[in-house]
Amino acid sequence: MRPFEYVVADSPAAARALLREVPGARYYAGGTTLVDLMKAEVEQPPRVVDISRLPLTGVELRADRVRIGALARNSDVADDATIATRFPALAQALRSGASGQLRNAATVGGNLQQRTRCPYFRETRWRCNKREPGSGCDALEGFNRGHAILGTSEACIATHPGDMAVALAALDAVVVIEGDAGERRVALEDFYLLPGAHPERETALVHGELIVAVELRFAAVHERSRYLKLRDRASYEFALVSVAAGLAIEGGTIAAARLALGGVGTVPWRARDAEAVLLGVAPDEDAYLRAAEVALDAAVTRPQNAFKVELAQRAIVRTLRVVAESLR
Ligand code: SF4
Repeated sequence: MRPFEYVVADSPAAARALLREVPGARYYAGGTTLVDLMKAEVEQPPRVVDISRLPLTGVELRADRVRIGALARNSDVADDATIATRFPALAQALRSGASGQLRNAATVGGNLQQRTRCPYFRETRWRCNKREPGSGCDALEGFNRGHAILGTSEACIATHPGDMAVALAALDAVVVIEGDAGERRVALEDFYLLPGAHPERETALVHGELIVAVELRFAAVHERSRYLKLRDRASYEFALVSVAAGLAIEGGTIAAARLALGGVGTVPWRARDAEAVLLGVAPDEDAYLRAAEVALDAAVTRPQNAFKVELAQRAIVRTLRVVAESLR
């Protein structure tokens, strides 16, 4: 690990100022992503700004929404009664991630910014456009069984690794970001950037801004949401495919649908086209199958990861079925 400066922030404004002073500086909260990457010299920030003591840990009820502080621990959010009852897909996604110890340390803001598990990104002797822009991508012709099939580019096919963000994508989450001009709100779908020619740019955050909260609006379609995660082993493993889904049914037809996928996209993948085919039809197997086909229409596969198409389609059908049955 390279030497770095460690400073402690005592307010969000101070944290932003301390970060902005040094190009390449990074915030430190739970440290569950950053420390690993610093040890591997994948990330080499000259300054680390400790924000772990800032008062951003609450899960607060507002009139029509819940506001989750950026420094709320993953385990605390999963155990929160409002999250468990009003946004069950989020609680399930959080509990499916990492290990108990990591969930006790990881924060919501950090989780949003966790970086890919692409092995070529995490090992500096390989070519990686995300780690070193313009250097190439050894995953394209390498071991890419776990890589993305949606939202890829010729520069990068890395999968977004998270669970929480997939549930948040389905639940219409808004990321609250503090900057010099005050707070701005960014829909989770717009927070993540597709890799295109610049996979090193991953989010809409600007250097010197700070995520302070995530907000979720209360809605019937969120209350019966579910999260399904499929992986090579039952715990402490990243998703091959995951699905966050919610339905609202009125008069025997689907009045609202939410569908997002993990493990298959370069970003948490909101399947809006698939949601559209569910609206106004009866909640049955034909509808779930059609939605599953549409959700994977744009998939671009490689021989090693082509299995993800059928796996994702089956996972979508299963999750929608479970959600619909919970509404009966
Ligand atoms: Fe790097 Fe993306 Fe290629 Fe992985 S897939 S080696 S993260 S450019």
